[in-house]
Amino acid sequence: MILVPCPFCGSRNSSEFRWCGEVKARPDPNSTTQAEWRDYLYMKSNAAGWIAETWYHREGCGRYFRIERNTLTNEIHAAEAGSPVSIDADAASESIGIRR
Ligand SMILES: [Zn+2]
Repeated sequence: MILVPCPFCGSRNSSEFRWCGEVKARPDPNSTTQAEWRDYLYMKSNAAGWIAETWYHREGCGRYFRIERNTLTNEIHAAEAGSPVSIDADAASESIGIRR
C-alpha cells in the first residue's frame, strides 16, 4: 500500500486517487509544432528517481495537488495544492475560433 499525502485530507491509500501524470510545462498552442504538442501529451520521461507529479483525490476532497515521488521507492514528500493545468480561456477560445 502506498500512502499519498493529500494536502487537504491527510494521508490516504493510493487507491483513493487518480495519478494524472508528470508535471511539465504546457507549450503555447499558438506557436508549438505538432511534434512538440504530441510530446507534451503522450511522452513521459519515466525517470528513475525523484519526479514531480499531479494527483487527483477522486474519493476524497476532489482536488488536484502535486507531490514529489521517488519512482524507485515510492517515497513521497512535498505535497502542495495545485491545478494540473492553467487555462487562459480567452487564448483557448481564440485558438479554436470562438468569439467571446
Ligand atoms: Zn483530499
